[in-house]
Amino acid sequence: MKFDFLINGRLSHETDKTYPVYCKADQSVITEVPDASEADIDAAVAAARAALPVWRRVKPVDRCKMVARMARLMRERVHEVTEHFGKEGGLPRNALKGGISFHSDLWLFYAGIGDKQYGSVLEHEGEYLNYFIREPLGVIACMLAWNTPLGSFSQKVPPALLGGNTVVVRVPDEAPLAALWMGTLAREAGFPDGVLNIVAGLGGESGAYLVRHPEVDGVSFTGSVVVGRKIAEACAPIFKRSVLELGGKSPFIICSDADLEKAAAHAVQAAFAYQGQGCSAVSRVLIEEAVHDEVLARMVEMVKSYRPALPDTPVTDSPQIGPMFNKRQMERTLEFVALAKREARLLAGGYRLVDPPFDKGYYLQPAICSLEDTDSELFMEEIFGPLLTVVSFKDEAHAIALANKCNFALSGSVWSKDFGKARGMAEAIRFGTVWTNNHLCFSHHSPWGGYKNTGWDREFGIDAIESFTEVKSIWLHP
Ligand code: NAD
Repeated sequence: MKFDFLINGRLSHETDKTYPVYCKADQSVITEVPDASEADIDAAVAAARAALPVWRRVKPVDRCKMVARMARLMRERVHEVTEHFGKEGGLPRNALKGGISFHSDLWLFYAGIGDKQYGSVLEHEGEYLNYFIREPLGVIACMLAWNTPLGSFSQKVPPALLGGNTVVVRVPDEAPLAALWMGTLAREAGFPDGVLNIVAGLGGESGAYLVRHPEVDGVSFTGSVVVGRKIAEACAPIFKRSVLELGGKSPFIICSDADLEKAAAHAVQAAFAYQGQGCSAVSRVLIEEAVHDEVLARMVEMVKSYRPALPDTPVTDSPQIGPMFNKRQMERTLEFVALAKREARLLAGGYRLVDPPFDKGYYLQPAICSLEDTDSELFMEEIFGPLLTVVSFKDEAHAIALANKCNFALSGSVWSKDFGKARGMAEAIRFGTVWTNNHLCFSHHSPWGGYKNTGWDREFGIDAIESFTEVKSIWLHP
């Protein structure tokens, strides 16, 4: 299968440079993709700009039909990229299917609400009519995360399009294939040329060029705080709108009256799904003192049961772990493991797997540590790898203070059988999403995003369409 850019309705590119995409399990080259030059980005942005008036004339119901067609094509044709997707991302096979059906349903969700955006009319107060409408921002640059390329694509692009905007997608540089594949579907879905454009580029330069581009009116970015801050700074001088979904450091609070067995199992599972490389992965477990030792011992046993898996390893009874996404992620995690050895008690894992067939990928045995000093970077900084930190707390107020201590505030959970207490704590911790007696539960309707360093604005739900619009107030006087 050939992977190319989508620019102005054609699968083509200007650049003569390419770069390799690696299988994360063994570092073999899967294929090469074009590496966008400034000319490619200029062409994609120009196509999006030229398509704006065309797209504005397409009736909302017809826009929705195209978005619904994307949902169907994703479901019907997913087999074309399942293998590539698993390899470029380092996902074990069993982790793939559910995600793709959730993401295609997100297009369907937006197709269902995209033609139901209503303005408002102010009640008549004099001899005038005042009404408010929403208008598109213009050309939106969507910059996707490598850990969920199709998820990120589906969270950003349909709401941007249904807000009346045209789009240039920059796919994740080291995992570009699944997102480039969406370009072949977009052509079949019937979007007018230039409405949706897709490019890939290795390193930050093409991304920075796209963000700064004078013909780009808004940016939606998922990635690190460091790059998110650069994007906010690049947008600030001209007040270019940005949606930023950045890092996380999810707390998982286990009260002594929780279902301890269920909580322990859920914490471990939500910590090591995709090798801990998720913005909402559990990374700090807070356990009430009275049950701390018992729950921690259970968790350590579970962490030890993880076994490495290649992308085509069949599903087994033991939980599976794939390779880290790249060397940088592995080295960062190993630095935190070294810190855990100095500042905490490392209770399991935390080493690279060096025996074949796992020696060529960046496989780490999942790790868990017990910590007392909550000023430690282990408690305060995002790791984005398979290292779980556990601390104890005295009472509700202490747990809330510990959860809120950190500057990342995407998601967290509270575990207690006391409904009133769980609800009170959920409302007291300052995170974009809080679950009780669950963690990692998503809905197309429910807004997703965080406070503090996690960035601003929200994805999912109808709010995401509004993020890509301006409100205009019109006064009609006779
Ligand atoms: P990253 O920020 O280092 O890179 C993201 C992308 O930005 C890459 O494709 C890179 O080429 C590009 N880039 C680099 N410099 C740029 C610049 N100056 N301007 C524009 N683009 C530039 O992030 P990463 O390491 O690839 O991803 C991990 C991070 O993403 C973690 O912090 C994680 O928490 C976050 N994340 C957040 C969510 C969420 O929903 N909040 C979801 C997934 C991942």
